[in-house]
Amino acid sequence: MNSPHVALAGVGKRYGAHHAVQDLDLQLRQGECVALAGHNGAGKSTLIKLILGLIRPSAGRVALFGHDAHSPRAASLRARVGYLPETVALHPSMTGAETLAFYARLKRQPLSANAALLERVGIAAASGRRVGGYSKGMRQRLALAQALLGEPQVLLLDEPTTGLDPASRQLFYRIVAELRAAGATILLSTHALSELAGHADRVVVMKAGRKIADGTLSELRRRTGLPLRIRLTLAGPGSGSGSGAPLPPPWRALDGNRYERLCAEDEKVAAIRAIGAIGQDIRDLDIDVPGLDEIYAHLLEREDI
Ligand code: ATP
Repeated sequence: MNSPHVALAGVGKRYGAHHAVQDLDLQLRQGECVALAGHNGAGKSTLIKLILGLIRPSAGRVALFGHDAHSPRAASLRARVGYLPETVALHPSMTGAETLAFYARLKRQPLSANAALLERVGIAAASGRRVGGYSKGMRQRLALAQALLGEPQVLLLDEPTTGLDPASRQLFYRIVAELRAAGATILLSTHALSELAGHADRVVVMKAGRKIADGTLSELRRRTGLPLRIRLTLAGPGSGSGSGAPLPPPWRALDGNRYERLCAEDEKVAAIRAIGAIGQDIRDLDIDVPGLDEIYAHLLEREDI
């Protein structure tokens, strides 16, 4: 197996007495898209800055392509890393094309690829306009183009979809899919776990500087053990077969003829079969599985982690 593109072992970062990141182990393998989730102040940006080598760890080791992020080789290795910061400072009087040319020169990349890059992020038509007149989505697209300069092998994207409309988010995840297919390794931080389905291979959840979960979305779903909720509405007495008698536990009466029961993921099939044995006409049936936001909130709220 290839060595990971990014590896953190026992990494900590302290600011005075405050631990921004604590005892963190993380590996990003080639072609993986890993989402980094956590509340404000959880340590996501600090982690990204540690990987970039912008700040030094107070403890542990950060390795990039198998080399210490602060080794003499770091400068040349960083040319293979693209970074989209949480807030991008773009000069309002420069056009989109001029902005990208500025970053290309800074990164010592040929300018010849810029037109295609602006096309790829969907702002080619606006590339001659001043950035000061760009919408938030357009600025974010331009910032993404900047991060994609030089076809980086590792992309670190800090809250890339915050404030984007659904069309821009879709375009963003389409680009992420292309990059993954081309073998790039992607770490993207987000508050919106619900938008990650189908896009991230793994989710790392951070809380107060610590990693509290690391797994695929289905692993996290199983781990939280959140129940499914089954709700049904009986047709009621006189409307067909059945006694009209209240349903026994585990059913819980809601209002009118509505009932609810909770069941674990692995009891789901048996619970649905049992509905067939109720012996009363059922007018309506709903099954709610825990959504990703619910799983995320559950992970973050648990007191034992
Ligand atoms: P957000 O979602 O709000 O961007 P985050 O998860 O990215 O948050 P970080 O920016 O990594 O969080 O911050 C983690 C903690 O470290 C916070 O408590 C923050 O105040 C603290 N911190 C970060 N940078 C510094 C710094 N340069 N000096 C002092 N404290 C800092």
